[in-house]
Amino acid sequence: MARHIYIHNPFCVRKCPYCDFYSVTKTSLCEDLYKAAVREAEIIGSVITDNTGTNPVNDKDGKDTVYFGGGTPSLPDSRLVCGLLDSVRKAFNIASDAEITIEVNPSSVTSEKLSDYLQAGFNRVSVGVQSLDDGVLKTLGRLHDSRGAVDAIEKITRAGFENISSDLITGVPGETLEGIKRDIDTFKQLGVKHISTYSLSIEEGTAFFDRYSKTIEDLVSPDEERAMYHGTREHLQDSGFETYEISNSALPGYRSIHNSSYWNSCEYFAIGAGAHGFLGDMRYGHRDDVSAYIEEMNTITPDAYKAFLEGNESVLKSLYAEEILSREDKMREVPFLRLRTTEGILLDDFYKMFGVEFDSVFGNAVKTNIEKGLLERKERTLRLTRSGLDLANVVIEDFL
Ligand code: SF4
Repeated sequence: MARHIYIHNPFCVRKCPYCDFYSVTKTSLCEDLYKAAVREAEIIGSVITDNTGTNPVNDKDGKDTVYFGGGTPSLPDSRLVCGLLDSVRKAFNIASDAEITIEVNPSSVTSEKLSDYLQAGFNRVSVGVQSLDDGVLKTLGRLHDSRGAVDAIEKITRAGFENISSDLITGVPGETLEGIKRDIDTFKQLGVKHISTYSLSIEEGTAFFDRYSKTIEDLVSPDEERAMYHGTREHLQDSGFETYEISNSALPGYRSIHNSSYWNSCEYFAIGAGAHGFLGDMRYGHRDDVSAYIEEMNTITPDAYKAFLEGNESVLKSLYAEEILSREDKMREVPFLRLRTTEGILLDDFYKMFGVEFDSVFGNAVKTNIEKGLLERKERTLRLTRSGLDLANVVIEDFL
């Protein structure tokens, strides 16, 4: 039975102006954080049973996954990253055919680091390109230019990685659909197998919020943004990439197993400051505080960690329960997560998980959205129509 583990590296060279992920620039704490993360992995490994964090009902691929996200996991010394992966593999008894991903940035990834990653067991690289247009990269405040991004992908393939994903941001002021299409073509030529496309969102607390929150709709109208989304999706499809989730497209055989586990409501462990996980009935996290994380992982006892994972109340510095889900909450999460996928809601899986028919719980929301042409039923699945895709959030709201 598969296990899924998310590891958060919170360090970045500097803060990108649009980013609202947890990241810090105090890299002097890298070594201590990675040591603390090794200890966390070892503690979890010592307290879990064979069935903790496994997902017999909804684990479609049946493969273990480990995902190093960030932040910028390619920033620290590869010795730290590979050492942590080694500890995680041992602590969780990770299978040899696991999907093991690392996110890298063009500005910090090197051939030497890539060779270390490969040797340590990473077999999938997700590269944060965002755009191959120098004007767009400048607007986004990225540290690399298009040449640097292409170089990085070439280094990744030369190092021997075959499973490569790349990110693209759409809806950036000054960006064009033609430019996005060119980027997709270049990715394909370079051997990229998976593309994640995100619409730029302007989040409070970011530098972009101050710069664009009042003007973004004048610079990129909602109609233009939607046209860019559909144009991008059509071009991905014409290029052989299947869109399997609102933001994710892959060549056949290259879907992200780790990301799919989220949409299948699978449990996953979290390691690292700012990392979030889901076990049993609990969605939990580590506070966005590197120092608190280091301190806690150096002092917490296995018994205290076990008590936390079992949902017992306790006041901890870094770990906290975000939400304890009731059976009804878990049911509501299914449309929330699955309507983002092109496969949609699998009604037989819902019945296996909860012992009731989806329609007996959400009949009204299903009926209304089918009548509006936003949802369609195909045998034992329910999914968004093309118009529904544009209004995904509105449709999902009806199920919450
Ligand atoms: S590199 Fe990524 S995680 Fe770091 S600040 Fe930029 S967008 Fe955020």
